[in-house]
This record gives sequence, structure tokens and C-alpha cells, in this order.
Amino acid sequence: MLHIVQFSGGLGSAAVARKVIEEHGKDSVLLVYCDTGWQDEDTFRFMDDFCDCFNTRYEYIKHNDLASEILKQNCFPSVFIPWCNRVLKTEPHQRFLQTIRCPYKQYVGMDITEHNRAIKVKERGIETPLYDRRMPPREVRKSIEELGIRIPRTYKYFKHNNCIPCFKATEKEWFKVWKYYRIRFEHMRELEKEIGATVFKGKTLEELEKEFMDMDLQQRMAL
Ligand code: SF4
Repeated sequence: MLHIVQFSGGLGSAAVARKVIEEHGKDSVLLVYCDTGWQDEDTFRFMDDFCDCFNTRYEYIKHNDLASEILKQNCFPSVFIPWCNRVLKTEPHQRFLQTIRCPYKQYVGMDITEHNRAIKVKERGIETPLYDRRMPPREVRKSIEELGIRIPRTYKYFKHNNCIPCFKATEKEWFKVWKYYRIRFEHMRELEKEIGATVFKGKTLEELEKEFMDMDLQQRMAL
């Protein structure tokens, strides 16, 4: 039996990978990473550190870059229709699974705070060991920190190691993208002009940027 872990570069997927490797041995575990091209670059350092720790490697899949896919589809994903996840992660992962010629089980790293998502993936036969063990995020983080691996830089600013920016994120999270990942924000701001659509309803990123500048000034004056 092969044990396939959806390895996302986040703490949850690393924690579940650790559990599955410790339970079944690294030779019967396959870590699969689908790259969207828009996670923090430190994600690769983190995944390499994790693999070095267990003397293993991960399978790398890339269908397309998030920005190129937005241009191709000529629209932005949204919190209501996050098609990016389906096109860049779920479908490439499914195509990869079709090449596997032996029995396998699948695992994802959802914790106790991700009840609704965990229930949905369980219905598809995917295992959720962290959720089943009622692991909260602080325990998930601890299970990686105790391996001596530096956690991904993204967690300094965000709860998850998603794409930066993530199209399921709120304006508050986009403020952090503007503040800490300015080039990425500007890339999406220009993409809005190119495809003639906006990420947020009724407001361009250029307009949002002006609000962010004011917010940032107020925050700095309050220090
Ligand atoms: S992390 Fe966010 S932006 Fe990236 S694929 Fe998933 S929903 Fe889309």
C-alpha cells in the first residue's frame, strides 16, 4: 500500500507527512506538491529541510503559474469561485493519481479548526489524521518545530502558507500582501488593468492601495 500525502508547503501537510512517515516508513510514503508559482519562495527551503530530515523527496507538479492562468481564463478567482485551486492543484493532482498503478491511500493536513473542509474530504475517502486526533494549530506547529526545522516565513504574517496573494483572502490580508510582498501586489494591480476586471467587487487594487497607504500611516503614527 502506498500512502500519498498532499504536500502543500504548509505546516499541516508537513505534520501529517511526519505522522504517516513515522507510522509506515518513508519508502511507502509519497509526498506530492502542486506548485502555483505564487507561494513564498521560502516554501521550497522548508520542504527541502523537511525532506532532508526524513531522507526523502517530494514529487513536484506544475500545471501553470497563477498569474498566467488568470490571463488565460481572463478573470480572477474569488472567495465564491476559487477556480485556481481546482485548475492548479486539484486537477493536476488527480491526473497524477491516475498514473499510480498500485493500491494507495490519500492524506491531507487539516487540523481541528478546519471542520467543514475535513468532513468534505473524508467523504471522498481521503484521510485526515490531524483532524481525527483533534490537533489544534499550536500542536501542529509544535510537531514541526520539535524536528528542528525553521517554519516557513509566511507564518510571520499569515495563518496559512497559501499563495501570496490568495484569492480567498480578505482585504485585511491583502493589506499584508501590499505591506510585505509589494511586488506581488503590484503585479496583480497591473493584471486588473490588463484583463479589465477587479479582484474585489466595485473597487480596484489601485483604489485599495490608497486606503492601505492611509492605514499604514495611521498604524505607524500610533506606535
Ligand atoms: S492558495 Fe488561494 S490563490 Fe492559491 S490556489 Fe488556493 S485558493 Fe487559489
